[in-house]
Amino acid sequence: MNVQTPMIGMQDTRPLECTSLIAGDRVRSGSGEERRNPSDTSEVVSLAFHAKARDVEHAVAAARAAFPAWAELTPQARADMLDRVGSLIQARHGELATLLAREEGKTLPEARAEATKSAQLFKFFAGEALRLGGRHVRSLRERIEVDVIREPVGIAALVTPWNFPLSIPAWKLAPALAYGNCAILKPSELTSGCAQLLSEILVDAGIPAGVFQMVLGGGEVGSALVAHRGVDLVSFTGSSATGRAIARLVEGRQAQLQLELGGKNPLIVMADADLDAALDAAVKGAFYSTGQRCTASSRIIVEEPVADRFTSALLSRVQALEVGHALVATSQIGPLVSERQLDGVQASLLSAQGAGSELAWGGKRLEQPTAGHFMAPALFVDTKPDEFVNRHEIFGPVASVLRASGLDEAIAIANDTPYGLSAGIYTASHAAMTAFKQRSTAGMLMINLQTVGTDYHVPFGGNGESGYGVREMGPEVASFFTRSRTIYTAG
Ligand code: NAD
Repeated sequence: MNVQTPMIGMQDTRPLECTSLIAGDRVRSGSGEERRNPSDTSEVVSLAFHAKARDVEHAVAAARAAFPAWAELTPQARADMLDRVGSLIQARHGELATLLAREEGKTLPEARAEATKSAQLFKFFAGEALRLGGRHVRSLRERIEVDVIREPVGIAALVTPWNFPLSIPAWKLAPALAYGNCAILKPSELTSGCAQLLSEILVDAGIPAGVFQMVLGGGEVGSALVAHRGVDLVSFTGSSATGRAIARLVEGRQAQLQLELGGKNPLIVMADADLDAALDAAVKGAFYSTGQRCTASSRIIVEEPVADRFTSALLSRVQALEVGHALVATSQIGPLVSERQLDGVQASLLSAQGAGSELAWGGKRLEQPTAGHFMAPALFVDTKPDEFVNRHEIFGPVASVLRASGLDEAIAIANDTPYGLSAGIYTASHAAMTAFKQRSTAGMLMINLQTVGTDYHVPFGGNGESGYGVREMGPEVASFFTRSRTIYTAG
């Protein structure tokens, strides 16, 4: 592995101060929590002041006060503001991408792509604000007309994870606001800096006080927010365990719930596939973004005739991956997001090995010129579907290879998981593609593509333990962020 010195001297290394935004005011509660660069823990990236329970109370009250005027605003006015958010993200693109790489640890090219997608999301939903329609029908009775319109629901609590700290807040905020709701964002406590810049942009774009607000902090603040009876909509992305806790907090009251959770995504490689393309998809899908993606290909299922050849080529590619500081141009894989995440992944590797899985490569903590949470990407080979490594979402640079005798067994293995987010197949056969489309149980299917990488103008989401409720993104998300009203008019 090459070792390069990162361009630390070129960065503005002063910690970014992060505060909650409540009723248009920046609120600095308690003492600041430091967030260190996962590629170089000597650098403090941000200092976040976590909200208290009373701040959540104030935010919900301010949102309720702001809601009627925002809901009544013309779609054009809302669209203009969201479009401006997109333009301001583009204008601050370099700053956002660099902060994202320093705070979360993804490589700079990946951070740039995320910043771009975040801008595009706001611009897409700016357009959607104008397109929200209803329907007009004749009544079943004489001289009566019926209109079914869609209207905003109210106050949306948006709770987001650290692994896409710009784009996930963007894909919740943009539709929530476009369709006339007030939004309170509770970003991950590990990426308050990205949330701070995003919140500055929304304010600069003219989103009124109380319409967009942000409360910083961890699970305590998140649960106070989602449990608040003044909140009408809860949209959460994160782990399945937290999703279950949130579902319990919302239970018994009339709030709409949307959960986007974990994954254990299969990638099938058939013997007739373009093996070079499949190899590239397996490596990038499993290990890029340090494997910290809900759609990562953590189970690679290879058809028997090519299994030895494919596994050995995969092993060589994994061994050659460059792990390093997120800002070094040659790094393909950055650090894990935190020491805690690295410890969790290490513990899962021990469990997997303890349960008999064969670790062919990687898994060790790596020393780099800077002290960070680096780990050599890990590949298990010749594993069986019921082994620990194939049952649990590890959420790090870890993948396993399984063998299948043919298409039927490959699809059965792919479906053998409580999750169901994304699933992929590489094959040249249309019959195999069709069988995969008909029988795979995942919410998103990728044919001759990586399991990661999705578009924002179509729905995103999974089945089973990977999700609950209306899918995110695409115009379909309007059915979550609006509700219908039926109006009868006698002529
Ligand atoms: P997490 O569940 O630990 O935290 C997510 C958010 O929930 C954070 O903001 C956290 O502060 C908050 N939170 C924690 N406990 C809470 C509680 N009791 N009540 C309310 N809020 C609470 O997840 P994470 O570690 O930040 O992210 C990684 C997980 O996210 C992985 O499981 C990954 O698969 C999943 N993920 C899913 C998708 C998807 O769209 N399906 C996308 C990205 C990440």
